[in-house]
Amino acid sequence: MSHPSTHPDLEHAIEIAPRIWWVGHHFPDDPFQCHSYLIEHGDQSVLLDPGSALTFDTTLRKIREVIPLERIRYFICHHQDPDITGILPSLDRLVTREDAIILSHWRANALLRHLALQRLPLACVEQRNWRLDLGGRELQFVFTPYLHFSGAFCTFEPASGTLFSSDIFGAIAHDTPLFAQDETILEGIRAFHEHYMPSQEILRHGLSHLESLPVRLIAPQHGAILRPPLVATAFQALKNLECGLFLLTRTNSDYQRLSNLNRMLREMLHSLVIHRDFSEVASRILELAKPLIPVTDLEFYALTDTGATLHLAPENGFHGVLAAPPPECRTFLGMHRDHWHSNHAGPYLITPYPGTPGDVAILHGLVLPLFAPHNDLVQAVVLFRLTGMLAMDDEMAHILTQLSIPLGVAVEREIILRIMDMTQKENYERSIRDPLTNLYTRYYMHEALARLCRIHDRDPASSITILAFDIDHFKSINDTYGHAMGDEVLRIVARILAEGVRNEDIPVRLGGEEFFIFLIATTEKIANEVAERIRERVARQRFAPPMEARTVTISCGIASRQVGEAMEKAMERADTALYRAKSTGRNRVVRL
Ligand code: GH3
Ligand code: MG
Ligand code: MG
Repeated sequence: MSHPSTHPDLEHAIEIAPRIWWVGHHFPDDPFQCHSYLIEHGDQSVLLDPGSALTFDTTLRKIREVIPLERIRYFICHHQDPDITGILPSLDRLVTREDAIILSHWRANALLRHLALQRLPLACVEQRNWRLDLGGRELQFVFTPYLHFSGAFCTFEPASGTLFSSDIFGAIAHDTPLFAQDETILEGIRAFHEHYMPSQEILRHGLSHLESLPVRLIAPQHGAILRPPLVATAFQALKNLECGLFLLTRTNSDYQRLSNLNRMLREMLHSLVIHRDFSEVASRILELAKPLIPVTDLEFYALTDTGATLHLAPENGFHGVLAAPPPECRTFLGMHRDHWHSNHAGPYLITPYPGTPGDVAILHGLVLPLFAPHNDLVQAVVLFRLTGMLAMDDEMAHILTQLSIPLGVAVEREIILRIMDMTQKENYERSIRDPLTNLYTRYYMHEALARLCRIHDRDPASSITILAFDIDHFKSINDTYGHAMGDEVLRIVARILAEGVRNEDIPVRLGGEEFFIFLIATTEKIANEVAERIRERVARQRFAPPMEARTVTISCGIASRQVGEAMEKAMERADTALYRAKSTGRNRVVRL
């Protein structure tokens, strides 16, 4: 069959498949076209979705171009909406044949009976086993509950493969041609379904029944008629369409705009799932927000469990650093949701952007509080840097509220990760520093030495010299002046050790009053001088009363690691040298 021309004459009935006619009324400038179809089959003809007082004069004229009205026996109403059934009371008077009936689902009929029709009976498709035999031509009905109505169904005509899909595959778009020309129709289909169909699951359920049919043409009640290859494309698009999630419809809503907002929220949720890195989430959110909000940047201030504030911003790669929030944000952190709402008209606040005095390009910041779900307190605020006026109406306020939900989840996740990070760093720092003396620990020593040995083996100039120290007669200091005084001596000696070496050298408290210093890339001569200087300084050190008269001395053994030598061996030699310093009188330096 040759396709009807691209721009058929909408003033007349149009044969869309053999003996199947479009008999709708075309409204100029209406994105919500309502179609009626006629199946011409002698005196068993069928009118699908008759229409309303607005459309039926045209529909009747077009029917009569094809057949007299009296040939129509069945009036199928896919649901009870007025654009389909508004004309029924008039039809009730107009139709004269005795066996004419209205066919719908009982759920619609339960409502249609309130039209109190006198002549036309209401019959239920499900009571006819979901079939209608026209004599040599059969129609099948397919139940598609909740799309969009609990009793919704579609009609399939197998001979031509035409699916009268009712509201499914409908589209909402300006200047939609009767026959969809290309994939641009998908945008209109998306906009129509997204707010109209209750959920992806329900939509998929309905589609799965329709998909099993050999559909060659889709004739929806709204939008455009779909021919191959758009039939398959539209099925695919609808299966993947999420709908009903964020039903924001208001009386004066703009469908396209709502669709865009909806898409933004959906993609935001999606990006939260796929992006692990918060900076990726943040930049995606920024990108999605830009078409809606004149925003150049965004940053977050988030409260941690300890009451500290994390700042996640572009300048710190959204890694989160501890920082004091600006006053604009500080007052909100920790505030209760009720308190916020009693003080602010909406879920947001426009404020002069903090920290940018004199920056005329930047007008304002939009502050959006993110509430913790478990206690309804503001756990974080998002600060959008605005560069223009923001059209703030009910819908924008609504969208900001919606937006704050996935953002709250993202920020909460990030706070947890950042705190874990910081705790880990703190723990590491703790494990490498001796709390009494602040010198490195044995744990750190092993870690550092493994690395330094590798460097030394590659580069003999990066030598490692070991100075092993032990305080002389330390036990007697404890015994005479008490343990606290002993600790004080340890701290002072440790300070002298640390101050006696360069940054790249490694002073370690091995335990008790025993210390090592690892000197890196140092000559033998200088190592001796360093050890001698430390020994001297300790011996000269004066202490607080009651130890003012007491001198503390320290013994030292020196050894240098040979290239390829096990570090333990070199340390043993330093220990042996130290032992010799002890046994030869203490308060001296011995090299092996
Ligand atoms: P020597 O000259 O032979 O090294 O004699 P010493 O008394 O210094 O040697 P010894 O190893 O017998 O004594 C070390 C003492 O250090 C024993 C222990 O009670 C004390 N000590 C170990 N750790 C600490 C500490 O953290 N604080 C204090 N105050 N004393 C400690
Ligand atoms: Mg000692
Ligand atoms: Mg000792």
